[in-house]
Amino acid sequence: MPTVAPRSLWQAVLGELQVQIARPSYETFLRDTSAVSLENHHLTINTPSPFVAEYLRQKLYPLVKQTAERVAREPIEVSFQVASEAYVDEPMVVTSASTPLPRQFGRTLALNQRYTFETFIVGKSNQLAHAAALAAATYPGQKYNPVFLYSGVGLGKTHLLHAVAHRALAHGLSVLYMSAEQFTNEFINSIREGRTAEFNARFNETDVLLMDDVYSLAGKDQTQERFFHLFNEMHQSNRQIVLTSDRPAQALTSLLDRLRSRFSMGLTGDIQTPDLETRVAILRSKAEQQQVSVPDDVLMMLARKVQRSVRDLEGNFHRVLALAELTGRPISKDLVVQALAPLDARQEREIPAPEELLGVVARHYSATPEALRGPSREKKVALARHVAMLLLHQEAGLTLSQVGRFMGGRDHSTVDHACKKIELLSNTEAGLRLDLVALREALQKSSAA
Ligand code: ADP
Ligand code: MG
Repeated sequence: MPTVAPRSLWQAVLGELQVQIARPSYETFLRDTSAVSLENHHLTINTPSPFVAEYLRQKLYPLVKQTAERVAREPIEVSFQVASEAYVDEPMVVTSASTPLPRQFGRTLALNQRYTFETFIVGKSNQLAHAAALAAATYPGQKYNPVFLYSGVGLGKTHLLHAVAHRALAHGLSVLYMSAEQFTNEFINSIREGRTAEFNARFNETDVLLMDDVYSLAGKDQTQERFFHLFNEMHQSNRQIVLTSDRPAQALTSLLDRLRSRFSMGLTGDIQTPDLETRVAILRSKAEQQQVSVPDDVLMMLARKVQRSVRDLEGNFHRVLALAELTGRPISKDLVVQALAPLDARQEREIPAPEELLGVVARHYSATPEALRGPSREKKVALARHVAMLLLHQEAGLTLSQVGRFMGGRDHSTVDHACKKIELLSNTEAGLRLDLVALREALQKSSAA
């Protein structure tokens, strides 16, 4: 076993877990994890946030351990850590030309060494975003400012953002890279601990600010206010800002409205889903990076299978590599079929019927569908009603007006308001977030039955 790389082992374990765990849970808690090390039968896993780490420790530990042991065919201890905790001393994180080491202010995300411009494949789908990112890295603060990268998930925004960071660091600039969630947490902590001056100082010393997933700033007024202020200061002194979001711009309206005049001086680069040729090129480059030779027909087969997300494309590819490594078999179309069969066998999700969906939500909150449709303002019922509205819209595909009609003749703007409210609350309330995961899972089960 010691010959197996932790990464391959974890890929194989994830492959198994992906089949055993309902998709919403998998996506929320496992997809963005990675293996750090495998030493003395101890597998250490990086998770993207404390919330995820805690959930894995409390809920999924036995299953993960069991699966790892089955794949490795030996006893394995598993522990979960938060990626940013592990990297806090990593000099690449926040670096400035004058300070070789990062400041010990809160936590900072690590940069992925593999996410560079050199490893980013440019095609029709992403050339605008690529050009915008490259301009930001090459002429920081001079050409387009801010740069706003927008696309669905798994299409390369974070990759480009890290690429800008690497390039700017290489030019001796000081770079600050953080997610909007981290910005929010650190801002709130700085207020609580009376360290706002220190918080602000960090931005004053920064030449290039890179913020991932700005969507999560939406609705947090005080945090937005601070961000707006820092943004303006940086912008006015011609320091580069690059933002990403995977939600449509309209979800960001209140923030963007205020930044609009600034944005008109910047550039928005969107990324579309890559065409087949680009997908093959991406796979080929990933194979080269890992120094494995993969036959063209296999690349083609993999590229045809996944259209919408480069992350899923890579995920499948890693599954195949892991199976090849674990079994010692050559990479072939047969191996692809075997590696991906459990996923293919899983039924595509069917759209739940509205009545059934309402029933599932009502049961989850120990209420009745009638109560949810009715006028009750009792707190628990109102919450269940709003959650049902969101899920009817997102999962059952009803329009806002249809949801309104279905929910006892309510107005579409009421539904719109409810959906937005739940989305915002779920950013900050772990309990609600878990409710949504559990409900989406229950819906999947009920519609598969
Ligand atoms: P997003 O931030 O948009 O959700 P990521 O940047 O995390 O997506 O990309 C998901 C995965 O796909 C990463 O491993 C990234 O390296 C890879 N990827 C996406 N687009 C490309 C590309 N054009 N060339 C190479 N790899 C890519
Ligand atoms: Mg991302």
